[in-house]
Amino acid sequence: PYSLGPTVDYDGRRVQWLRDNPRFPAFVAPGRPRVLVVTGSSPRRCSDPDGEHLLLRAFKNKADYCRVHGFDIFYSTAVLDVELSGFWSKLPLLRTLMLAHPETELLWWVDSDVIFTDMLFEPPWDKYAGHNLVLPGSEENVYTVKSWIGINAGSFIIRNCQWSLDLLDALARMGPRGPVREMYGRVISKTLSDRQPYEACDQSALVYLLVTERGRWGDKTFLESSYCLSGFWAYIVDRFEGMRRDSTTPPEPGRERWPLTTHFMGCKPCGGDDSTYDAAWCRHSMERALNFGDDQILNLYGFEHKTLNTTAVRRVRNDTGGPLDAVDEELGRLLHPAFRAA
Ligand code: UDP
Ligand code: MN
Repeated sequence: PYSLGPTVDYDGRRVQWLRDNPRFPAFVAPGRPRVLVVTGSSPRRCSDPDGEHLLLRAFKNKADYCRVHGFDIFYSTAVLDVELSGFWSKLPLLRTLMLAHPETELLWWVDSDVIFTDMLFEPPWDKYAGHNLVLPGSEENVYTVKSWIGINAGSFIIRNCQWSLDLLDALARMGPRGPVREMYGRVISKTLSDRQPYEACDQSALVYLLVTERGRWGDKTFLESSYCLSGFWAYIVDRFEGMRRDSTTPPEPGRERWPLTTHFMGCKPCGGDDSTYDAAWCRHSMERALNFGDDQILNLYGFEHKTLNTTAVRRVRNDTGGPLDAVDEELGRLLHPAFRAA
């Protein structure tokens, strides 16, 4: 069958590398794994210039989130393996980055159309210490309902280890474009409850593996539904003003204040005509989500958007000239995160 590359005895070699390179520890502080956020978009330019602009702003949003949290970020515009085009391109990319960056403990794939809408919250790393894969989803929808939307492959966290390389390879077997991908689409549709037999995608392939080989993959896979690792945009975007109005107190520790992410799945601003949703609604909602995330950054500097529906900003604090004069404790955590000192 198709493979991403030679099998390597990875865990032992990685441990050795980490021993030899103490300047690049996999944990940057106690309980703080080194995280690499991985995202990307097609090598081809969008047919729609507005789509290009949205990609830029979605990347700016991710750069802001990563800077605040001290995560590295990698943006790919290459398809590393012609067999694994489109959605599947994240597989060879993740493998390549794992092997080249043994210092990275966790890789966090985020689709280009995922917008961070809670700039402060970060995933509870301790909770995942015994797992190698964190997927947005629930046991019920994966193992009982066997639904291909029981998880979302647009935002997930994967550990840099042998198990993950094996998983990527197991998935890649179903991905080569053409007859193999089509054949697996039919196979998967027979096992899952709600998938039509069109060509396989990485998301349905992942659910298929969990359902059919639960013993092999299930134990190390955490299905996360306690916060929006991938928040469905249509349920979120009309509530931003209300959420902001109702959120007076800081969130409890470990709780998101606002949805961590707003994922524009099904919207295709890059010109495809296969969008599931009204294009104008998608476009307008993206603007709002981007501005909602950006306001949390602008606020640190004394500004915010006039409304979520406009690019125009206004000053929200007097410019006193004194460092941090009006910045409250919570904002301070975004400007000068405690863990940075470690
Ligand atoms: N993608 C990529 N290179 C490509 C095509 C897609 O990196 O050539 C990535 C991109 O980040 C995109 C993701 O694959 O966001 C999945 O596609 P999309 O978000 O459009 O799917 P949806 O979430 O709507 O199902
Ligand atoms: Mn997406």
